[in-house]
Amino acid sequence: MPLEPVESLSREEIRMLQMERLQVALNRAFLNVDFYRRRMDALDLLPEDVRTLEDLRRMPFTTRRDLAEHYPYGLFAAPLRSIVRLKITNPMLRDRGKPVVVGFTRHDVTMWQSLMKRLYAQLGMTDRDIVQVAFNFSLFPGAFTFNHAAEAMGATLAPSATISARLQLQIMQDFRSTVLATTGAFALHIVETMAAEAIHPRRLHLRLVLLGPDPLPEATRTHLERGLGVPVYGLYGVNEMVEPGMAGECAQKAGMHLAEDQFMAEIVHPDTGQPVASGHEGELVLTTLTAEGYPLIRYRTGDVTVLRDSPCGCGRTLARLSPVLRRTDNRLSIRGIPFYPEEIETLLQEMDPALDDFRLVVTTSHGIGDQLEVLLPRESTRDYPGGGRPQVLEMVRSTLRRALGLGVRVSMVDRDRMPREGLIHKTVFRSAEPFPPA
Ligand SMILES: [Zn+2]
Repeated sequence: MPLEPVESLSREEIRMLQMERLQVALNRAFLNVDFYRRRMDALDLLPEDVRTLEDLRRMPFTTRRDLAEHYPYGLFAAPLRSIVRLKITNPMLRDRGKPVVVGFTRHDVTMWQSLMKRLYAQLGMTDRDIVQVAFNFSLFPGAFTFNHAAEAMGATLAPSATISARLQLQIMQDFRSTVLATTGAFALHIVETMAAEAIHPRRLHLRLVLLGPDPLPEATRTHLERGLGVPVYGLYGVNEMVEPGMAGECAQKAGMHLAEDQFMAEIVHPDTGQPVASGHEGELVLTTLTAEGYPLIRYRTGDVTVLRDSPCGCGRTLARLSPVLRRTDNRLSIRGIPFYPEEIETLLQEMDPALDDFRLVVTTSHGIGDQLEVLLPRESTRDYPGGGRPQVLEMVRSTLRRALGLGVRVSMVDRDRMPREGLIHKTVFRSAEPFPPA
């Protein structure tokens, strides 16, 4: 598969393309978004004054709080009649007050799809592939992009099913799926199911596995590759922009090539906001270069990563992101669903204002969060409506399930036996032998 021209530009050509597109992006934001115009006015800055990255750095960062404060349409740069898709993040959790709504014009949706197609091509996928997409689509709407891009490429989409590993494995065998796209946690579950059902990877027809949206730890990749018998690749995206599709690995597995023709990246020190030298870790800050519906300028992603612009063995010159090393905030992610501990606290206090204490236990299997447990102090349950302990536990469980879209364990612990720390990470390693020997 030949590279797209933009994938092999010189670094200087990429920089020139970015600055050219940045002009258009800043003009669009200046003319259509009060929030950005006010910021530029305050700096006495016009879009045409921004000719270099240093000029851009005069603009303040855009934060997630800015996004939530302008809910729902305050940061849209296109009229609603031009918006063809709306995406809302964590609608039930209200993100410490309000959710974030992102809007896409037809051009934005087409761009997103073409980026995903580029990532497919980057891994050697073709129209002969049979792509099986195994996500909970209502919890991760970005998953539809896997489908749209596969169809646009002319590949065959395998039937989608409920999120049952056994059924997914059945489909994989019956339809001879060659590509599986899913979350890391579900891929681990599939490997466990294969071991339990004595399904050897040779009975599958997979060529490769694509994982998102959570970061893929190297040890997890090794475990999954052993269990599935094929290469496993990671993807990256930002929920407030495009996810997935923004960056993805090539066959070299040496970082995720970022679509620098669409997004301009800076790496800054999380505390000072000052630029960090290339190849050093810091927070990823992104500016959309072509987004029409929801342009973001210097958006702080909260993801700590490393950006390298050295040439890659695959011949691509687009810079490469390392998998996310950590978050700058306390955001957690279970089976690909992001949330903040404060959001759980708000929900619990809405149920019982007297509730003064709780603990979260995140169980991680092979580096990927897959189970959340909430510990409540026993005494605080006295005044719950309905009274009895099983009902209380069930009420908390069902409220959290509705809010998060996840099954959550809820337990009660004597107050004096509550763990000292508010957040506990447990790591479990399962399936030492992922599949029976041939
Ligand atoms: Zn590469």
